[in-house]
Amino acid sequence: MPDRTETESRKLLGRLRDLMAEDAAGQARLDKITHLTADSMGTEVCSIYLFRDENTLELCATEGLNKSAVHQTRMKLGEGLVGRVARSGQIVNAADAPSERGFRYMPETGEELFSSFLGVPIQRLGEKLGVLVVQTKAKREFTSDEVYALEVVAMVLAEMAELGAFVGDGAALKARHTQPALFRGGSAQEGTAEGHVWLHEPRVVVTNFATDDPARERGRLHAAVETLRVGVDELLSEAQDAEQMQVLEAYRMFASSKGWMRRMEEDIARGLSAEAAVEKEQSSARARMSQVADAYLRDRLHDLDDLSNRLLRILTGQGAQTGAQMPDDPILIARNIGPGELLEYGRKLKGIVLEEGSVGSHAAIVARALAIPLVIHAERITNEALNGDHIMVDGDQGLVHLRPDESVVSAFRDKMAMMANAQERYASIRNTPCVTQCGTRITLTMNAGLMADLPSLPSSGAEGVGLFRTELQFLVRNQMPRRTELAALYKRVLDAAQGRRVVFRTLDIGSDKVLPYMKPNDEPNPALGWRAIRVGLDKPGVLRMQLQALLRAAEGRPLSIMFPFIAQFDEFREARDEMHKTLAREERLGHRLPAKLEVGAMLETPSLAFAPDEFFREVEFLSIGGNDLKQFFFAADRENERVRRRYDTLNVSFLTFLENVVERCRVSNTPLSFCGEDAGRPVEALCFAAIGLHALSMRPASIGPVKHLLMRSNLAEVKSVIDEARAAGAQSIRPAVMEYLRGRAP
Ligand code: PEP
Ligand code: MG
Repeated sequence: MPDRTETESRKLLGRLRDLMAEDAAGQARLDKITHLTADSMGTEVCSIYLFRDENTLELCATEGLNKSAVHQTRMKLGEGLVGRVARSGQIVNAADAPSERGFRYMPETGEELFSSFLGVPIQRLGEKLGVLVVQTKAKREFTSDEVYALEVVAMVLAEMAELGAFVGDGAALKARHTQPALFRGGSAQEGTAEGHVWLHEPRVVVTNFATDDPARERGRLHAAVETLRVGVDELLSEAQDAEQMQVLEAYRMFASSKGWMRRMEEDIARGLSAEAAVEKEQSSARARMSQVADAYLRDRLHDLDDLSNRLLRILTGQGAQTGAQMPDDPILIARNIGPGELLEYGRKLKGIVLEEGSVGSHAAIVARALAIPLVIHAERITNEALNGDHIMVDGDQGLVHLRPDESVVSAFRDKMAMMANAQERYASIRNTPCVTQCGTRITLTMNAGLMADLPSLPSSGAEGVGLFRTELQFLVRNQMPRRTELAALYKRVLDAAQGRRVVFRTLDIGSDKVLPYMKPNDEPNPALGWRAIRVGLDKPGVLRMQLQALLRAAEGRPLSIMFPFIAQFDEFREARDEMHKTLAREERLGHRLPAKLEVGAMLETPSLAFAPDEFFREVEFLSIGGNDLKQFFFAADRENERVRRRYDTLNVSFLTFLENVVERCRVSNTPLSFCGEDAGRPVEALCFAAIGLHALSMRPASIGPVKHLLMRSNLAEVKSVIDEARAAGAQSIRPAVMEYLRGRAP
């Protein structure tokens, strides 16, 4: 037997639904809602305040306050009780409002007559839209049932706002998802792109929020949860690793959570449809999410959010992109995405914008390999963007213009045209060897890691692959690749290189690169932990398998292999011994051996620069992994946004250190290259070349700009600028070099 409050709130919802079905302009609808709410709740006042801009709320409709104040009364976020509700996202329930902290009297509204105040936030999935208020003359606190009823009205308001129900006469809400919006995120892959939005997970819009038949809705909810539970169980039985299992277990926990179900059932009993009940729960989880500092709890709330999305899809039938057509120039928008999913989209995408993500994430690595501009940390963009919206992504600055206006469009297109001009200039020197004005030949090669990189080899003008990061093939899979698979892949890489040199780096896992199918290691400081060659030497099975795959892939062609993260001579010797043992085994088995085999090392820790002379004589080539070297040289984590840009690569100490390495290699006649990200930055590349680093390996897109600058430069002049700045006590030689470059003829 439904209790009285359930019947009351069902009645209120029914009246709201009828009202929404009427054909009325936006303002008239808002006015009717205030009237109906005040009437149903027995209050003298009901008012709707909506955000005009990020910081300002405006009285948009009222029953009971002076009508002349509508669209006149405004308040700042945090100002008065309404502003407090808006800022905190929390309910304010005050029997004697004027004596409340922060109360602000608005004379034009005539609210001095009223004592009690109940304000609830109007928000949709954590996005704040405004505040809904009821007031009475009598001093009284509102009951929890009244609070609930007002929350439901607020939710319906938010939902209807999403559907554009209050748009039409300009006075009420701005149409949702029609205004230009700018998102400031972080740059994870440079480049610019213009296109149309493609949502990785389309948003679900609830159109049916009220019900007269709670029993039916309960049945729908139970059936949907059951479907969900079966789905999660299936995923769980296929789960490959502990972390995946953990997430799915958490899903299962929520899917069977009594509290979650009970709250949704209560919502249904009070007149909400099954989907509205799910969304109400989801909204409150989102609101909690923004306030929880504990990372573990936040992750669990995220899980709940994901689960709610799945449930909403089941209930509304709004599945993954049903009926939607991917635009020709898709810009992918997602909260986050895994490397595998990103690879499935492949080069189709013009750009990617994520709400989460990190520069070092695997998705970022894949985006970089595919040379797709990527902006991360674009907060709330999945709420704002709709499939098909016009969008411009500036991966250089980390900016995203959604539904840009004319002036932004033309400025952005100018920038793209300038970049295209530069690309044309680079194309004209693509096949010219890189020789500086002073006659020094510089070898420019590219970094790669996926088959998707290889088409860039001829188009970028790279002379070969200076660093092939083999771990990416391991990272984008769900299980350890087999030797035959790897051999086939490496063979395809060598085939695509058409005789150009490819330097394969053996597996560099650990630190931020964690294989999904290997037991995770709980290390206090993974960047300084069990990683790269340390893993390879301690557990040589995978290293041997990889070396064997490489030898077979060569099919008699020359082969270059380097070991990552060599910190002392012995590590190189041991790794090389593994190589020789594998080679001998291959010979015994009658396999063809490479015509020539070069075995090198990466210099990524300062210690190796001080290794015995013998090391420099024995190693067949050295490549400086500047990304890691720099983080250890300055003790500044390369993944930590706070410190990673703190020390300039052109810092005199770092350059002097590099010069010492150049000198040691000169004495021992050891070929030396530099393959960290800095090699792809023209000014850095110029300084490296000037101090004697004559082989640089970089992202394919950087080869053009680096070559263009090097070919116009005189390294001897740059070297004197560096020496003078150093002698003058400069901390970084960048200002001096920049001044020199500015002073030169264009
Ligand atoms: C480096 O450390 O500079 C390097 C090239 O290796 P990775 O970025 O893959 O660690
Ligand atoms: Mg490295």
